[in-house]
Amino acid sequence: MRLTAYLIPTLREDPAEAEVISHRLMLRAGMIRRVAAGIYSYLPLGYRALRKVEGIIRREMDRAGALEVFLPVLSPAELWRETRRWDAYGKELMRMQDRHGRDFCLGPTHEEIVTDLVRREVKSWRQLPLNLYQIQTKFRDEIRPRFGLMRGREFGMKDAYSFDRDEEGVQKSYATMFETYTRIFEQCGLNFKAVEADSGPIGGSFSHEFMVLAETGEDLLLNCPGCGYAANLEKAEIALPEEQAGAEEHRPVERKETPGQRTVEEVSAFLECGPSQLVKTLLYEADDTVVAVLLRGDHQLNETKLKNYLGAGALGPASPEKIEKVTGGPTGFSGPVGLDGVRIVADEQVRHLVNFVTGANAADTHLVNVNFGRDFAASEWADVKAADAGDPCPRCRAAMEKVRGIEVGHVFKLGTKYSDAMGARYLDENSEEKSIVMGCYGIGTGRTVAAAIEQNHDGDGIIWPVPIAPFEVVLLTLNVREQVLMEASEKLVGELEDRGVDVLWDDRDERPGVKFKDADLIGCPVRVVIGGKSYKRGEGEIRIRRTGEQSAAPLGQLAARVEDLLGQIQ
Ligand SMILES: [Zn+2]
Repeated sequence: MRLTAYLIPTLREDPAEAEVISHRLMLRAGMIRRVAAGIYSYLPLGYRALRKVEGIIRREMDRAGALEVFLPVLSPAELWRETRRWDAYGKELMRMQDRHGRDFCLGPTHEEIVTDLVRREVKSWRQLPLNLYQIQTKFRDEIRPRFGLMRGREFGMKDAYSFDRDEEGVQKSYATMFETYTRIFEQCGLNFKAVEADSGPIGGSFSHEFMVLAETGEDLLLNCPGCGYAANLEKAEIALPEEQAGAEEHRPVERKETPGQRTVEEVSAFLECGPSQLVKTLLYEADDTVVAVLLRGDHQLNETKLKNYLGAGALGPASPEKIEKVTGGPTGFSGPVGLDGVRIVADEQVRHLVNFVTGANAADTHLVNVNFGRDFAASEWADVKAADAGDPCPRCRAAMEKVRGIEVGHVFKLGTKYSDAMGARYLDENSEEKSIVMGCYGIGTGRTVAAAIEQNHDGDGIIWPVPIAPFEVVLLTLNVREQVLMEASEKLVGELEDRGVDVLWDDRDERPGVKFKDADLIGCPVRVVIGGKSYKRGEGEIRIRRTGEQSAAPLGQLAARVEDLLGQIQ
């Protein structure tokens, strides 16, 4: 492709509207342009990268036996009312009416449409399992669309839905999709992690997120360098603490005046003990019942873990009035001793503590040398601590590390949530009617392109992984007014294209400096230069974008050398 016949409106300056690197570089490299908040046009270069990602996804989904369909963007409200999501989805659902006043939405996801299709067409166990996928535009009316393609209102997605006869079947489908996603992101040339995730508002029993690792990612994960366990910070489990050998003997409880000392730091400084020797008592209201949560002084509570453990619909800290009423003391001095009739949930990490400090349920007073069993009964133990870097891995006990990532894919086991709500059933071998068991699997296509840039760039621009580079090679002809250089360049383009290599030929009448800068910004994995001293030696220059490694090859061998290199580099 000749650059003079192409549309790549590169920008010298950083656009003011761009907040993240991928957004900035995609604007600067002339890949996308903003139409309205959260709505973008792909220009030819951007669309080529997107098409490459889509191509890898399509190939792997087909290989996994999934069937490609194309479902409508416009979705009638009746279907969404069947699953009660018309009301539940809230303002993110882009709604509209047709000329007859009938309600529609622009689909943010397609469970309703696809379940409607399957309930009509699938009647027998012989038709299952089935996996239907599409690559389609989705809409979500974000309050604050930002970060370019990362959080748009209109965005590209591959979504797939599996339909199985039973739990065993959906587990197999889930495992197949998990492996397929792993292959997809490997083939995109990305460094990623599959993490256990909270299933969130789509609802379901089990899910994993696929995260592209990048320092600029908005999601925090804990990663175990020992065994590869990785989880969302929100969801990360922690290994149970080991019992301390030769633990101290229980000392008698003492009541100590701690005037005005409320925070963990204040109390531990005042009593001259470490914050880890304090057990704080947090009072929460879970569906109108007060629950006391015991946590080590230097640890933080993960409310999601607590909410999931309690199976509570609503959860929030108890009000100061409520705390006073339940404990008899003011906020900041609560403790488990004498807290009769209140459910006490103790975090696993305090299980083996002895002779610790707690509040005394009275103003300006703490208890020292408190012990489980002797002084109060904690009937329940749960992992409710907010996981953090350094916490032991739940699988192998190695210290976990905190990394950042960008979610690009998500797999859910849905169960029968949608098939029950919409009546998607089949007859089994014994002619018994059963609900179809579903899974759903998404990949943000534009998001994957953006995440690839977040992970692969430097101060000069994008560094494309070879498999998703819009062009694998950029060829610069240094002086386009020299006919011999143009002829040599044209010949090379032909040779590379014969080998199936995508080449962008910068045949513009521009200064070399401008061409080099644009080539770095656009980020093709290999750059070839024809002209200057090397040409006089009968050679062309090759440079690898990622490493900056340079070499030269005789003109006649350039195409073969470049093809070889593309097979070797990342
Ligand atoms: Zn581990």
